[in-house]
Amino acid sequence: MNLKQILLCGADVLGLNCLSRFRTRRCLLGLCYHGVVSDNSPQNDARTRIAVTVTQFNEQLKELRKHWNPVSLSQIRNAIENDIPLPDRAVHVSFDDGYKNNLTIAAPLLAQYEIPATIFVTTNLIATHNQLIWALELHERLAVLPDSEIEIGGKTYLLPPPESPQRTKLALELLNRIKRFPAEERDILLQKLRKRVTIDLTPSWKRELYEFLDWDELRLFYGQGIEIGAHTFSHPVLSGLDQAELNRELLESKRCLERELGTECLVLAYPFGSEYDFSDRVVEVARQIGFRLAFTLQERRNPPVLDAMRIHRICIHREHSLHSFRALISGLRNVSLFLS
Ligand SMILES: [Zn+2]
Repeated sequence: MNLKQILLCGADVLGLNCLSRFRTRRCLLGLCYHGVVSDNSPQNDARTRIAVTVTQFNEQLKELRKHWNPVSLSQIRNAIENDIPLPDRAVHVSFDDGYKNNLTIAAPLLAQYEIPATIFVTTNLIATHNQLIWALELHERLAVLPDSEIEIGGKTYLLPPPESPQRTKLALELLNRIKRFPAEERDILLQKLRKRVTIDLTPSWKRELYEFLDWDELRLFYGQGIEIGAHTFSHPVLSGLDQAELNRELLESKRCLERELGTECLVLAYPFGSEYDFSDRVVEVARQIGFRLAFTLQERRNPPVLDAMRIHRICIHREHSLHSFRALISGLRNVSLFLS
């Protein structure tokens, strides 16, 4: 155990997590996962940070079952619309994008711990093969580009060897810059990379990480009580879209889910979800289109009285140790981030 882990463990032993949980007991905790993968999927590869391992997920669910009260989407709707209070230390588990591992790996563990969950799906990627969300495709291509340097946004970056941990980490940093570019500029870069380099999605760890659910699997989920929400049509940065594109992204995903699942879709998760990725205008359009609840990734606790169109969630990544996870979700966020 390193010093950081010892300090986080110390905070736990001293009861700081417990105190913090008590202090924020009336504030819904939203957790956002993307996927759960096998323990042997590559470590030290920034591409796998979006998914936790089976062992991590199992430990985290055990923690939620022991110290928290897992609630469903319907309970949250009831709290907002019918004033039926949530229990103290309420936690809501959700998954973004719609990966197959949510069904094959996460669902049995969720059932074992009797923890309800919601899956937010990007509808044009459901039932596709060898397709990635554009941001992950950029990450993949930047990770394997054979060049030794690249110019992005007027700045030249020296590139470590392809596929090395240093390269995948730098590729993630570059991606986080590129995400803020205008959509046209991003598309030009992606087109350029598509011509320069091909990506191989056949390794089993990549299939496990990236493969999407199909509609039959989503219907199966729905039948088992796992709730499904929209995550747009193609996973854009909504704040950068004009009115017509914004309408199309939200409406297409809503209609598609309603058609395929045969039930009204009233819930949305904003793609990427940070304060830069959606705006008051996006919230208004989502409301007009008919979404009644919407989830962010603003990495903060919710106020005791929920804002229906801005329900905050914390994103859980692979680098979170169990001690770091405990501190993070208990509200000792700054301690956890400092020590992660
Ligand atoms: Zn997403």
